[in-house]
Amino acid sequence: MAGNREPEQTAELRLETRNWLRENWSEDLAVGEWWRLLAEAGYAFPTWPLGMGGRDLDRRAARAISEEIAGAGAIGPPGGVGQMVGGPVLLEHGTPEQQRRWVPALAAGTESWCQLFSEPGAGSDLASLQLRARREGDRWILNGQKVWSREAEGADRGLALARTDSSVPKRKGISFFVVDLDQPGVEVRPIRQMNGRATFNEVFLSDVVVPADQVIGAIGQGWPLARASLAYEREEVGGAGVLRPARMALPGRRNGMLHRSIAELTEEHRSAERAAHVRRGVRTPEALIGLARELGRCEDPLVRQRLAALYAAAETNRLRIRHARSARRRGHGPGPDASLGKLVGSATGRQARDISLSLLGAEGMLTGPETTGEGTFQQMALSVQSLSIAGGTDEIQRNLIGERLLGLPREPEADRDVPFRELRVGTQRG
Ligand SMILES: Cc1cc2nc3c(=O)[nH]c(=O)nc-3n(C[C@H](O)[C@H](O)[C@H](O)COP(=O)(O)OP(=O)(O)OC[C@H]3O[C@@H](n4cnc5c(N)ncnc54)[C@H](O)[C@@H]3O)c2cc1C
Repeated sequence: MAGNREPEQTAELRLETRNWLRENWSEDLAVGEWWRLLAEAGYAFPTWPLGMGGRDLDRRAARAISEEIAGAGAIGPPGGVGQMVGGPVLLEHGTPEQQRRWVPALAAGTESWCQLFSEPGAGSDLASLQLRARREGDRWILNGQKVWSREAEGADRGLALARTDSSVPKRKGISFFVVDLDQPGVEVRPIRQMNGRATFNEVFLSDVVVPADQVIGAIGQGWPLARASLAYEREEVGGAGVLRPARMALPGRRNGMLHRSIAELTEEHRSAERAAHVRRGVRTPEALIGLARELGRCEDPLVRQRLAALYAAAETNRLRIRHARSARRRGHGPGPDASLGKLVGSATGRQARDISLSLLGAEGMLTGPETTGEGTFQQMALSVQSLSIAGGTDEIQRNLIGERLLGLPREPEADRDVPFRELRVGTQRG
């Protein structure tokens, strides 16, 4: 990727992007058509290579393009696990053939991917995973179960971690597969959550076939790739990433949105977003201050104190994100620093939940259009706990910060060098 651009070059790039947007952006386009245009012009994922949805630009330049797209009121590139994690992992570790096959499709949003990492017995201790992959000629056969897989119901492919060798210690026998999900043997079952939504799935794989050329990296080398992909995820979730993906449409043909007009989807999204009450906005200090004003509680000193504490935490995090971004511009990869952002995000989420419920009082138990804020805050209170779990729990982020940022001793790990088949992990078999 290119080195740092000078600010004048960034200004030129902004101008060029603005002109391009003036000529190309329209709400009348189908969402798939818009994403294709963005990718062809290299504005979809500007840090990706030319011809693959990007322009080989550095992150500062990429952010300038994202800002111009948002500033013009246009929707961003496709978002999802494939775009957030799959693209970067393929570009760093995939073969040229794998990159040609998948990266342009991810950039243009014609494919949707999901992450098949967690299992019922392997979440924080992901290296204990038991999905088995057996080699048969030029293909692999996968058997086992995954869980908590977001967006698996409409995904074309899954990034899956599977055990290819149980005679070696647990981290050494894992490989990283791209699994085609539209095939017999893949069963996706939604899980209903307490907020009434079903955004996760269990995924059962029975004799699922993966061609040998769909392994990313070397066999048995999946663990470092898994760690790299989790770091990309944390970076985006923690706010230090460059992506501002469209939230109103899901990529991939199976999700059925590519041919829909942007205007129509935006309208639906507005009402769906209100109905689902999942806007990140309701966790911000501004939203909570608005709620306190609406309920006439702004003069209450205790309320003011809690709002000020939330504001201070959010502001500190904003500065931390700027610091992380400048480190990334200097060429550092997504590091343990992303754990800080993730941790602060989940802590401020809980603060926002507690403040909103204390402001709402008994009304905090109700949801629906006739309640204060149309139930947005109540729904947020039901969903916010997921921030402390998704992409690695708060405790795991603390471990990462302790070990990799503060240089504290590693957690003791008695099984580090023991062959996986000798471990007592659930009902694991060799
Ligand atoms: C919103 C959301 C989206 C998700 N999306 C996906 C997805 O798309 N694909 C996917 O594969 N998975 C996904 N997950 C799963 C997620 O990665 C796991 O839930 C998470 O890693 C925790 O694993 P677990 O649920 O098995 O909990 P466990 O690992 O069983 O943890 C239970 C408790 O023990 C604590 N604990 C465990 N080990 C340690 C330790 N070493 N030190 C200190 N405390 C510890 C944990 O912090 C936690 O409090 C998602 C989860 C959520 C909530």
